[in-house]
Amino acid sequence: MRLSRYFLPVLKENPAEAQIVSHRYMLRAGMIKQQAAGIYSWLPMGFKVLKRIEQIVHEEQIRAGHIPLLMPTLQPADLWRESGRYDDYGAEMLRIKDRHERDMLYGPTNEEMITDIFRSHVNSYKDLPLTLYHIQWKFRDEVRPRFGVMRGREFLMKDGYNFDLTKEDALHAYNRHMVSYLRTYERMGLTAIPMRAASGPIGGDNTHEFLVLASTGESEVFYDDRVTALKLGDREVDFDNRAEVLGICEEFTSLYARTDETHDEAAFNQIPEAHRKVGRGIEVGQIFYFGTKYSEPMGATVVTAEGNRVPVEMGSHGIGVSRLLGAIIEASHDDKGIIWPEGVTPFHCGIVNLKQGDNATDAACEGLYKALKAKGLDPLYDDRDERAGAKFATMDLIGLPWRITVGPRGLANGVVELTSRRTGESEEMGAEAAVDRIAQIYAGI
Ligand code: ATP
Ligand code: MG
Repeated sequence: MRLSRYFLPVLKENPAEAQIVSHRYMLRAGMIKQQAAGIYSWLPMGFKVLKRIEQIVHEEQIRAGHIPLLMPTLQPADLWRESGRYDDYGAEMLRIKDRHERDMLYGPTNEEMITDIFRSHVNSYKDLPLTLYHIQWKFRDEVRPRFGVMRGREFLMKDGYNFDLTKEDALHAYNRHMVSYLRTYERMGLTAIPMRAASGPIGGDNTHEFLVLASTGESEVFYDDRVTALKLGDREVDFDNRAEVLGICEEFTSLYARTDETHDEAAFNQIPEAHRKVGRGIEVGQIFYFGTKYSEPMGATVVTAEGNRVPVEMGSHGIGVSRLLGAIIEASHDDKGIIWPEGVTPFHCGIVNLKQGDNATDAACEGLYKALKAKGLDPLYDDRDERAGAKFATMDLIGLPWRITVGPRGLANGVVELTSRRTGESEEMGAEAAVDRIAQIYAGI
């Protein structure tokens, strides 16, 4: 993309309404625009990152054997009357009447609807196990929408639902979700710690939240800090292998890590003092096992091999897709702007032309731009007629992990400059070598 033709409405001033750094940078970098409290338009660069995050979520769900579908945002109230949650959910649910005076709602989550789909089409244990998921907008009329996309009213969530014959099978689905989530967050450059949590309105007795440590997080967390060093890496996982999946879950949950709701002071004090940490975290996902909480009242049953009809065992598993943008920025920025991890960056690298209008410099930038694109990369070329300082400030703010700077002085020596946004370190090299280096960096991502 050429910046002169893009839509990147960067703000020079700090917006007064933004209290935390991710909200401030998302507004300043022209990623989002608020349309009402907790409701945002996703401007092109914000939208691009959102799509990259979605893509990673999809890839990791599919790798785990889960199946995508799409349910609507609007739901009939009657489904929620069946589970009993229509009255329980309270003011967070946006209730709407259609022209026929029928009660509808904007879905805050989809347990009821997926259970309805299941009961309409599945009848036999032979069709199990089954895990369906979607990535869809949710609405929760939060009392205090704040911190930008972090606590919105309309927000994008991945929510997945497993259907199994036995509790044992459903717990395997739970574990599969835990492992797939670990890899999902790692690919986004995040350390998200699974912490034992309380279940809230979804219900159930087994649940973990995934928290990204950040001083601006809304949850108080208690943990053994050795948990932050655990990594899944590029370990190949056979998601059908129960022992292997369970082993990984045990590895990641054996150290103490809990939210305030499940915190146990006595157990916490067992941790060696040097590793005992109290901090704050951003909840970027949660997994639940809840058994037959929905299948029983809603009549979602299957016939077993013995011919008995039993309610299906279920769980639900969510990732805060739009919240993740905020969480990633909270975890990765400096005082000049965002520092995107390679896995989610809106553009792979920036090209800064230090002397727009100079024939040789323009030609070198064009050549780089085309060579990067020919390698399947997505560069952002700052071809505006602007001072170098302004171009650098924009690049630093929007946080592309790599920048290639092209100017007449370097070109006279046959070099351009490749700079890492994270370390600030620069290296001079020929244009071709810079293209190869960028291609190499992204080859494994
Ligand atoms: P919270 O405790 O933050 O209100 P929750 O526990 O009610 O969230 P879940 O039902 O677990 O939310 O939803 C799954 C994920 O969706 C959460 O882990 C979070 O990342 C995201 N999420 C929930 N509410 C919001 C919101 N208002 N804005 C943005 N993301 C949200
Ligand atoms: Mg939650």
